[in-house]
Amino acid sequence: MSSSIAIIGTGLAGLSAAHSLTNAGLSVQLFDKSRGSGGRMASKRSDAGSLDLGAQYFTARDRRFLETVQRWQSRGWVAEWSPTLYNFNDGQLSYSPDEQTRWVGTPRMSSITRALLGALPVNFSCRISEVFRGQQHWQLQDTEGQVHGPFDQVIIATPAPQATTLLAAAPKLAGAAASVAMEPVWAVALGFDEPLDTPIEGCFVQDSPLSWLARNRSKPGRDGKLDTWVLHASNEWSKQHLDMPKEQVIEQLHGAFAELIGCSVPAPAFGLAHRWLYARPAQAHQWGVLADADLGLYACGDWCLSGRVEGAWLSGQDAARRLMEHLA
Ligand code: FAD
Ligand code: NAD
Repeated sequence: MSSSIAIIGTGLAGLSAAHSLTNAGLSVQLFDKSRGSGGRMASKRSDAGSLDLGAQYFTARDRRFLETVQRWQSRGWVAEWSPTLYNFNDGQLSYSPDEQTRWVGTPRMSSITRALLGALPVNFSCRISEVFRGQQHWQLQDTEGQVHGPFDQVIIATPAPQATTLLAAAPKLAGAAASVAMEPVWAVALGFDEPLDTPIEGCFVQDSPLSWLARNRSKPGRDGKLDTWVLHASNEWSKQHLDMPKEQVIEQLHGAFAELIGCSVPAPAFGLAHRWLYARPAQAHQWGVLADADLGLYACGDWCLSGRVEGAWLSGQDAARRLMEHLA
């Protein structure tokens, strides 16, 4: 099989596809608008150490994903995280242990995609604005006006709203992607000079501006001197405060955190906010991948399945499988 394949997006879905295709001897060229890989599994290096601002941990319920995660573990890319879990409901904090295995990238969430990317050819800081077809091949145009290609096949591995415009050459696929609503999330990281006096390492939150909080430093391999925490606002709060200045978001979510955490919370020594516009699909789908194999155009991502890390990986696998079936 000889084919040149463009993959737009170096989150887990794009890299899952890239890994399968290159293992089968195919050549890929990756593109991402960001400066590095990881997408919503990215970690931010900061004065307070590295911080997981997007995906916090993941579970592996599918056998194929579990076997893959165990291989990642043997290579040191991931480790189990067993946080002391709490739940906040009706204004009450309660200890909420369970038996679920939860995984994180080590020493940071982005380690997984960095390892998968390896030495594959990639254009970072390259936002693709159009995917168009000549007589036989695909070409990609970026926002600087540069054209990349030709390619035989294109895999679009971006969140659904960004995939919609790139799928213009396949209106049916574009329509399906356009039907997927994705919800925003404001994420805030705080760092404290002294460890907060609480056993909590992770907390599911209801009836609050927050939906989740985690003691970032409790994850395996995390560095830094400060006691770092990552707070996620609920989808509703994030929607209502989409354009709030970052300083105010930090202040408000710090306030909500201090109200529920059950110990004294001083002013943080460090704070940052990040807005995820397309954090999670409003609902799960069973598509696996959107494909027009005759055209050579595919779209994958968490939104084609469960809206979780596992769904992103599985969807990338589905895209690679469909493409290889067509070539065979
Ligand atoms: P992405 O990671 O979004 O990758 C898409 C890539 O495409 C990005 O790198 C982007 O820069 C690039 N891109 C987009 N448009 C273009 C363009 N035009 N040109 C070039 N590049 C482009 N999941 C869990 O399982 N557990 C969790 O705890 C969890 N928590 C989460 C918390 C938050 C705040 C968020 C945001 C997500 C969370 N998730 C969680 C979901 C999980 O992060 C995603 O399911 C998964 O990372 C999606 O991977 P993906 O490859 O489909 O998409
Ligand atoms: P999971 O099984 O740990 O969590 C699923 C859900 O079950 C949680 O959201 C929580 O509501 C509930 N839950 C689980 N354990 C609990 C406990 N001990 N006490 C109280 N409630 C508990 O993991 P998963 O199914 O792999 O989901 C991954 C996580 O990713 C979830 O928390 C999900 O909300 C989160 N996620 C967040 C975003 C985002 O944008 N914020 C996007 C995708 C996924």
